[in-house]
Amino acid sequence: MPRKEILKETRRLTEPFVVTNGKGFRLKDFDPRETRGLIEKGEAAQLLERGVRWLAEEQDMLYAQDRWSVLLVFQAMDAAGKDSTIKHVMSGINPQGCYVSSFKVPSKEELEHDFLWRYVKRLPERGCIGIFNRSYYEEVLVVRVHQDILAHQMLPPELVSERIWDERLTEIANFEDYLTRQGTVVLKFFLHVSKEEQKKRFLERLDQPDKNWKFSPSDIHERQYWDDYMAAFEEAIRATASKRAPWFVVPADNKWFTRLVVAAAIVETLERLDLHYPRVDAQKKVGLATARTALLQEKKQGAPSARTRKA
Ligand code: ATP
Ligand code: MG
Repeated sequence: MPRKEILKETRRLTEPFVVTNGKGFRLKDFDPRETRGLIEKGEAAQLLERGVRWLAEEQDMLYAQDRWSVLLVFQAMDAAGKDSTIKHVMSGINPQGCYVSSFKVPSKEELEHDFLWRYVKRLPERGCIGIFNRSYYEEVLVVRVHQDILAHQMLPPELVSERIWDERLTEIANFEDYLTRQGTVVLKFFLHVSKEEQKKRFLERLDQPDKNWKFSPSDIHERQYWDDYMAAFEEAIRATASKRAPWFVVPADNKWFTRLVVAAAIVETLERLDLHYPRVDAQKKVGLATARTALLQEKKQGAPSARTRKA
């Protein structure tokens, strides 16, 4: 199938889920069970495979060109499938040009700094893809839902008011604008799982011994704050969705569909960058020809003689 056709299909998959303007955004307009008419896992697997292969080609050029970098932000409730999406979508990627950072509860050292500090340190360099498994958005999600966390962030009290969430959201939007103007492509994925599906997945983790390790009692605790989290996500997406740094609200009740949409969104964005291998100018071509001749001549001279070898 020609690339143009594939891209059209890809767009059909991502278009309903991309948010480039947060004004009026409502989470309830997005259905976690959506699959865009695709019902067959097998068909999805084929499409995903094609996407993963394409992604690998784009990454190779991204790395060779060494100009753009890509930041992929993953946010979600527990068991929405962040880890497995990252694993599947990036399966064809050369590890040399890609790194994953998982952000947990901040360390003492991290709390001694401004809230973006630890994330800035992990930004991808040019030519590379950086994946944030959780991100600076936690600062307006978990910290907003559990405001006692804020008290441990060592801020001067006079700087803490009820405006702090709006201030942080503005700072995040400005930070992302800054990054995009520096050549970092920013894509943000909210894996949108329903509360019922989360319950099902938690039960699987409890019932299946090989999944027990994934379960943490705190997951059940966080579930009680579901509505607060949804409100915080909604506010965050409203305040930070832009053309330059879009959000994708990815239906996450069907893992196979989640992976497909994420892969499609990344491929489509990289394709739009019109990446290519560095062009070779006339002078470099002369250099390549000289190197080639030198190598071939080396071959003609043959292997070293027995006497040389002994010595
Ligand atoms: P998994 O459960 O799949 O291993 P995870 O990302 O949920 O992955 P956990 O170790 O379970 O990892 O949880 C990390 C915890 O760290 C989450 O509860 C998250 O809300 C919390 N966290 C992340 N960033 C911050 C932050 N800036 N301040 C406070 N807590 C944070
Ligand atoms: Mg967890």
